[in-house]
Amino acid sequence: MQLSSFAISIAIANIALVSADASNYWKAFTSQIDPKNITVPSIPATTSLNPTTECTYYNPDESLIVINATEWPSIWDVATSNNMDTSPEFLALYDSLDWANAPNISVRKLTSDGGLDFTGYDSSADPDCWWSASVCVHPKLADVSADIINCPEPETWGLTYDDGPNCSHNAFYDYLQEKKLTASMFYIGSNVLDWPYGAMRGVLDGHHIASHTWSHHYTTTLTNKEVLAEFYYTQKAIKLATGLTPRYWRPPYGDIDDRVRWIATQLGLTAVIWNLDTDDWAAGVTTTIEAVKQTYDDYVEMGTNGTFATSGNIVLTHEINNNTMDLAIDYLPKILSAYKQVIDVATCYNISYPYFEDIEWTNVLNASTAAAAASSVASSSVAASGSSSASAAAGTVTAAGAQINQSATSGASQLLPSALFTLVLAAVALL
Ligand SMILES: [Zn+2]
Repeated sequence: MQLSSFAISIAIANIALVSADASNYWKAFTSQIDPKNITVPSIPATTSLNPTTECTYYNPDESLIVINATEWPSIWDVATSNNMDTSPEFLALYDSLDWANAPNISVRKLTSDGGLDFTGYDSSADPDCWWSASVCVHPKLADVSADIINCPEPETWGLTYDDGPNCSHNAFYDYLQEKKLTASMFYIGSNVLDWPYGAMRGVLDGHHIASHTWSHHYTTTLTNKEVLAEFYYTQKAIKLATGLTPRYWRPPYGDIDDRVRWIATQLGLTAVIWNLDTDDWAAGVTTTIEAVKQTYDDYVEMGTNGTFATSGNIVLTHEINNNTMDLAIDYLPKILSAYKQVIDVATCYNISYPYFEDIEWTNVLNASTAAAAASSVASSSVAASGSSSASAAAGTVTAAGAQINQSATSGASQLLPSALFTLVLAAVALL
């Protein structure tokens, strides 16, 4: 009797978070890929170590992946483009959400140079828990998933790479494989559709795949419909290429507020932020490689100087270009020496189900690497449905982490306006 009322209260709690129709949206996605049995086709783009060859477009084998352009937003454009905001599947999802419950928070504006406009916003009170305004990671709105910001285990480096799959990542992924390292890979939907074999390899290599939106805009500047489309079509693309639908995502530039969190929560998505930012994307763009190396050196030192004696970090790094991937290869040996563990977010949080599909994390893959890493993590298991409580746990872990975050992130959003970011991504695509 007690058990049934407990089950009912859990069910009610779930309904409060996600309306019944919306929670099954992922079941309509199609994929010909079995994530537990992936073979990446052997073509020059997947086997070469020459960036030009790697980044030569290919048509995916239709027995694996069929891309019909009429079913997708335009690459790198907001995900409502190409009439995707009026597609029956998107409208069905949109109409299934209880928008009357959505928070009444303004859509943010951009300044003329492409940065976020904070005019008129009370950043010190930060009523909307807008990360870009105050590095807020503890939502002020009820019934939204709180952000994950660090790995709870002491002296642990949470390994994450954003903006992939980068077409020229073969040597970098080879290196991670050689070191038996798995990372959380935050993939951009446009990149997944352009380079689906790169995403397949991410799963094959045992990495934890998560979403990084369709077109890498500041999400707080997008309308509710645009934010929903950015999430929806990225989920659909990752499913198409890998057979998996992520439960985790990372906002570009960390730009999230309670309105965006509410929409993400309707789709069962929890945000993963960070508490250390290498600014590696800026190396050779807006700062020197030496400056980024100094940041890396500082973070390596934190592994042995007591900074993470009681809890670990999650570090923001990128597979955005060959500079960032070379820096990663340079520094991973030092990071491995300085920290007790270097692991992906699913492993460090002991998340049993990082995807919607009924496949346990340690069984998704190439499980030898992930299982070995998971066995060295002592924290209690966190089931997928417990992502909110997992996030809450992270919140209690790090007063210190939050301080580090304040000083270390120094507003990547201000440093990298979206227009510049698009240019960087375009340059990478041309490599
Ligand atoms: Zn990014």
